[in-house]
Amino acid sequence: MAGGIGADLEFFIIMSFDTLGLSAEILRALSEKGYEQPTPVQQQAIPLVLQGRDIMASAQTGTGKTAAFTLPILQLLTQNPMAKGRRPVRALILTPTRELAAQIGENVVEYSVHLSVRSLVVFGGVSINPQMLKLRGGVDVLVATPGRLLDLAQQRAVDLSQVEILVLDEADRMLDMGFIHDIRRVMKLLPTSKQNLMFSATFSDDIKVLANTLLNKPALVEVAGRNAAADQIEQCVHLVDKKRKRELLSYMIGHNDWRQVLVFTRTKHGANHLAELLNKDGITSAAIHGNKSQGARTRALADFKQGGIRVLVATDIAARGLDIDLLPHVVNYELPQVAEDYVHRIGRTGRAAATGEALSLVCVDEYGMLRDIERLLKKAIPRIALPGYDPDPTIKAEPLQTGRGGRSSGPSPRSSQPRGGARSGASSSARSGDSRDGSSHFRESAGRDSRPAQRRRPAANGGSQPGRSSGAPASYAGAGARDNRGGNKK
Ligand code: AMP
Repeated sequence: MAGGIGADLEFFIIMSFDTLGLSAEILRALSEKGYEQPTPVQQQAIPLVLQGRDIMASAQTGTGKTAAFTLPILQLLTQNPMAKGRRPVRALILTPTRELAAQIGENVVEYSVHLSVRSLVVFGGVSINPQMLKLRGGVDVLVATPGRLLDLAQQRAVDLSQVEILVLDEADRMLDMGFIHDIRRVMKLLPTSKQNLMFSATFSDDIKVLANTLLNKPALVEVAGRNAAADQIEQCVHLVDKKRKRELLSYMIGHNDWRQVLVFTRTKHGANHLAELLNKDGITSAAIHGNKSQGARTRALADFKQGGIRVLVATDIAARGLDIDLLPHVVNYELPQVAEDYVHRIGRTGRAAATGEALSLVCVDEYGMLRDIERLLKKAIPRIALPGYDPDPTIKAEPLQTGRGGRSSGPSPRSSQPRGGARSGASSSARSGDSRDGSSHFRESAGRDSRPAQRRRPAANGGSQPGRSSGAPASYAGAGARDNRGGNKK
């Protein structure tokens, strides 16, 4: 994407990449990519990494985190070359999902195009043999999901004893219940003395504590408030009955002529079903989730990026890191169970200073989740209301359907967690899944926050779009009151 992404940020001191201590070859690659200035996270992190510091960096999603760690790594590796003929893995980048690994791998290739650095991406769901072959040939920078990396290590196809720099991207996710065991196993294969870099858009308090135990006197890089959503994303909420969500979504896509929409559901089944229904409505769609083969996942994403399909319906597999150039619309068809995931989901739009819109369709069952999200964001999300789609005030909140066909009645995991303490069982089960290939990222079981939606002051006017209301519809407050009476099964 062409440069200038930090230019809009207030208090951003204009500086150029030349001043950061990067080699001419790296600068050339950046200029070929069209980058003009380092983004704030790049400005802060690159010098620290070059000094050999451990860092814990929280930066809003889409603000150039990948280059913030990749560029100084490439610089360090090339300025301290290995003896001729030796090519052990010197930098290891771990990510929670295959798609993110592939994307980071592409960036590494682009940034190192004028260097003699060899990089490789390894993840599950595809044949392991070509990965083994390439590793045998020598790799400097390895990007991996933890499960496949451990498989390779078990088969003695990769030697991690010479790793100098470890990156945990989406670190909060990597240190969460689904991955922490694999991460600890990987750590045992790495030298104790190495540089550790942790990057994430969000860091919960307890993950911060855990991260600190793995870092050596880390420098903190915090370019925007933790858990903040990018300013250029215009967010709004439409309260609507669950059974009318699909109709409303089809209407909004058709009526507004949205050409590229990333839609999030909570479950894999829900993603499939919605994609089918949208296709029936004449809106070309595909689903992407952990039950799809890696081939189908890659194809769906490529089709979506190239405009072959209009809607990609995803579980949280696509919530983190995916960079879809100028993606204009994200829709939360169902709110995420964990409030932080909202920030990750909507961060798929509004990247690199492009503007984007994030619409959430919220039914009465989800008012508790909406409240958790607004508390995390520290602001109310503006409401819009399309005539005819007001929620029916007689409908009562019901427990949310879980991904395994059961029903859950516990509180939402994040809100049930003791601050700074151990994670609750609810949290761990909500995050359970197959961590071996990175697909543990899916949170298919939905705990329910059945606490009442609180009465709140009407939200601020959402802006200039037609249909935007100046506050929460009366039915929302009514629904909250109703929930207080009958729906609160806490
Ligand atoms: P990331 O947060 O690493 O996923 O990056 C988000 C997007 O910003 C990607 O499309 C990058 O190619 C782009 N990007 C990263 N750094 C810069 C920069 N300094 N100038 C312009 N675009 C950038």
